[in-house]
Amino acid sequence: MTRVAIIGGGIGGLTAANALSQAGIEVAVYEAAAELREIGAGVALHANAMRVLRAIGVEDGVRKIAGRSEYAVTRNWKGRVISKTSRKQQAALFGLESATVHRADLLDVLADAVPEGVVTLGKRCVGVLPDGDVAVARFADGSEIEADIIVGADGIHSAVRASLFGPDAPRFTGKICYRSVIPAAAVPGMRPSSDNGQWLGPHGTIVLYPLRGEELINVVAHYDDDGYRHESWITECSRAEVLERYAGWHESLLRLFAGGDTWYKWALYDRDPIPQWTRGRVTLLGDAAHPMLPYLGQGACQALEDGAVLATALTAEAADPVTGLARYERTRRPRASRVVLTARERGLSNHLPSRWAALRRDLSIAVRRRLNRRDPEGRGAGWLASYDATSPDVLAA
Ligand SMILES: Cc1cc2nc3c(=O)[nH]c(=O)nc-3n(C[C@H](O)[C@H](O)[C@H](O)COP(=O)(O)OP(=O)(O)OC[C@H]3O[C@@H](n4cnc5c(N)ncnc54)[C@H](O)[C@@H]3O)c2cc1C
Repeated sequence: MTRVAIIGGGIGGLTAANALSQAGIEVAVYEAAAELREIGAGVALHANAMRVLRAIGVEDGVRKIAGRSEYAVTRNWKGRVISKTSRKQQAALFGLESATVHRADLLDVLADAVPEGVVTLGKRCVGVLPDGDVAVARFADGSEIEADIIVGADGIHSAVRASLFGPDAPRFTGKICYRSVIPAAAVPGMRPSSDNGQWLGPHGTIVLYPLRGEELINVVAHYDDDGYRHESWITECSRAEVLERYAGWHESLLRLFAGGDTWYKWALYDRDPIPQWTRGRVTLLGDAAHPMLPYLGQGACQALEDGAVLATALTAEAADPVTGLARYERTRRPRASRVVLTARERGLSNHLPSRWAALRRDLSIAVRRRLNRRDPEGRGAGWLASYDATSPDVLAA
């Protein structure tokens, strides 16, 4: 039986662990942290990700902890509706509804589904040896493990990727991001709408969605700013800075932001798709393979797709796991690279500073919606949600 070691017990690593163990493959996860934990923030799981969660048997668990919303609405910064899609319409088009969840809740559901004894905590990988009859991972505590296949699912600053291909080359995008999770009860005045909302304005995008029913509102707010370069998800900033930044945007947004006590701020860096994910018996998955800007809400969704396809590829090539890895990469790299590049373009098109350019964008959204029933958002992104990573037919030859 093929033995797979996964480095990193995040959303991608645990999904892969579930998919692999359900395929009858022996799997072990090595996580650097002393406990499985996530930052306090939301994550949107589009139909392509929900299909994977259904296949590994945790869809119901995820829906129980998801936010409740009826519509996905895109507006301009003053509140004019650009597009509006009902969740029922989404389900009819893509076969299942998307969900928005707290990252910690999602991680709990995934961790509960992983068989006992699979995850080892406190194991920080410092390097891998990919070439030989077995692959080897080395840890900061001096220990080593070996496996037939090692998967680097260790996130955006992946030690496995650096060990295989050298340090990466992040490029500052000139954009920053603020985030907060705001209790709906803390918002003064009228309760904000529980739609999944995207607001597009000059130099910025604001994304809002509910978590845990309608209890919490997840806020991710982007802005063009050349002056801040710190790439950390956990550096705090003041509420006053956020309110000042979005002064002039719709009053309901500012009222919502006033209810947020804790705000985080980080600089958005971009990385080109890398030309290779695999060396010998070691490959990459999730942000380690394809870090991307957050404009499509697809980083975690792509990590989930990776896990499902990896299990299918290793099953299809059970006699030779190295050939299985090659098929995994041939299947996944073109799609994930396309998503990385599309997310980059989406950031530019969301932040258009010129009023006329923004009007042209909104007009083209309206036309696309009218012409293509399978593109309810009008942004040409139906190919993201319709992908079925769980189908055996998904594998490239
Ligand atoms: C603002 C923002 C909003 C986002 N919104 C969405 C969204 O709505 N939808 C969506 O799909 N995606 C979203 N994403 C992207 C998504 O969060 C990531 O793509 C996703 O978390 C990647 O999962 P991962 O498992 O690959 O990496 P991670 O979640 O980073 O997990 C990596 C794991 O590896 C561990 N680790 C790290 N180094 C080592 C090591 N050396 N040894 C052992 N373990 C190690 C870490 O502790 C961690 O547990 C967003 C990202 C941002 C920044």
